[in-house]
Amino acid sequence: MEVQNNLKFILNTIPENVLLVAVSKTKPVKMILDAYNAGHRDFGENKAQEMAAKHEQLPKDIHWHFIGHLQTNKVKYIASYVHLIHAVDSLKLLREINKHAQKNDRIIDFLLEFHIAREESKFGLTLEQAKIIIESEEFSDFKNVRLCGVMGMATFTDDTNQIRKEFRLLKGYFDSLKADYFANSAEFKEISMGMSGDYPIAIEEGATIVRIGSKIFGSRN
Ligand SMILES: *Cc1c(COP(=O)(O)O)cnc(C)c1O
Repeated sequence: MEVQNNLKFILNTIPENVLLVAVSKTKPVKMILDAYNAGHRDFGENKAQEMAAKHEQLPKDIHWHFIGHLQTNKVKYIASYVHLIHAVDSLKLLREINKHAQKNDRIIDFLLEFHIAREESKFGLTLEQAKIIIESEEFSDFKNVRLCGVMGMATFTDDTNQIRKEFRLLKGYFDSLKADYFANSAEFKEISMGMSGDYPIAIEEGATIVRIGSKIFGSRN
């Protein structure tokens, strides 16, 4: 089967210690099941209601990764089961995630999203903004969220030097935060970067998680 073959091909090209999140946004449940039946358990979605509907219909041992921009009023759709929220970029959003995690009596893992691309439109923090969040009193009071690392998206371009530079920048942010705040924290360890078009470069630059959609499930409309 196509999905299973694509999945196998990609798994063969990435190191074992790099987690592959299969990005299934816009794709039908049947295709996710194909990947599931090949043994895959980590899937990524970028719309809360779509993720909720798929979670409802699919086996409960799937790890659901929320990879898109999350609006505060949508946290409730994913809080009871989400495995990792990749793109937190404000204290306001984190407050909401913490609140819903508390309601569900669980701890939600998340990454901080950094702006590394040239495009203005991409979301994400600067290193300074991230430090302000991390150093805030409110952040230290959040008991139901756990910061596990960083995430970023490179510029959409054919210029591989540019892409490499941006991934290297994200790795530098990770190293800097690790040294300044999380040297003794085993859970601060993830660097989520790399998509279908640029994941080999991301892995060379230190990605621990890659998020791949079209190379597994085919192109989207
Ligand atoms: C859609 C998406 C991906 C996967 O993109 P592909 O190019 O299809 O691999 C990865 N990360 C994020 C944040 C996305 O929105």
